[in-house]
Amino acid sequence: MTDRPKPPLDLLIAAPRGFCAGVDRAIRIVELALEKHGAPVYVRHEIVHNKFVVDSLKAKGAVFVEELDEVPPDAHVVFSAHGVPKSVPADAQNRGLDYLDATCPLVSKVHRQAERLVEMGRHIIFIGHAGHPEVIGTFGQVPEGAMSLVETLADVDGLSPADPDNLAFLTQTTLSVDDTAAVVAALQRRFPTIEGPRGEDICYATSNRQAAVKAIAATCDAVLVIGAPNSSNSLRLVEVAERAGKRALLIQRAADLDWAFLDGVRTLGLTAGASAPELLVRELVDRLSERFIVTEREEETTRETIAFKLPRGLETAA
Ligand code: SF4
Repeated sequence: MTDRPKPPLDLLIAAPRGFCAGVDRAIRIVELALEKHGAPVYVRHEIVHNKFVVDSLKAKGAVFVEELDEVPPDAHVVFSAHGVPKSVPADAQNRGLDYLDATCPLVSKVHRQAERLVEMGRHIIFIGHAGHPEVIGTFGQVPEGAMSLVETLADVDGLSPADPDNLAFLTQTTLSVDDTAAVVAALQRRFPTIEGPRGEDICYATSNRQAAVKAIAATCDAVLVIGAPNSSNSLRLVEVAERAGKRALLIQRAADLDWAFLDGVRTLGLTAGASAPELLVRELVDRLSERFIVTEREEETTRETIAFKLPRGLETAA
């Protein structure tokens, strides 16, 4: 029996992809806390939505919990990049826990905007996905009832605010740029005096990764996205590729790839969500190379140079 020759596969890799500055910072905070204090360091919620990252930190001595009551007294605890309601640091303080906040500075910026708007007496319409930890964290910055959640155009139609002339809107950082523009336009049509953020709340990493996948999707037969099923920005990348008319699939890592997805594919697009490490991209390329003669090409739509400062107290450890 002779080995069949491998078929060719053009691999078009989106750039930017993978880790953003907020994810990089959050992981570094846990690593530095472990270096500074030794294991265990507790982390409330997955530090970023990626199993590989979480498992790597577990191996170094991080212990992941969902709530603070699972953290023993006198322990060190880190809050995840998605942000937490105000009640969480308050509880940690009451319990005498030493905590580090790995909330992405771009999420913290939205938190401060929410507080400022409520101080001004505005009711906030928040565009986001119900149940996502970032949404829970942002709602927890303001008194109950000060903010209403909308996800879809139908939700905008269903709004009946007490004072329609005194509204403002904010958004989750990891939304679909196109869907959000449509929801904002609907809000502005219904409530012409609604105030919006000066810049955009959708973060640079989310919009850059969506623009990059849009750019490659045009010339691909199908698109693979590496990311976790609970990663909002990764799910949005799948949607962007599908809206460009391409088959798209989210996988956590190379071992999850169903080869049938590649039937008839001559040019494959590849990207990774903001919480997926580059190592998982390389792992997938290696797996593809077992069955195909892979020709790689990267298409860079923009270059990112953003880095965020570490919290005080860890700068010296770094
Ligand atoms: Fe921050 Fe955006 Fe990265 Fe989320 S995706 S951690 S908001 S930079």
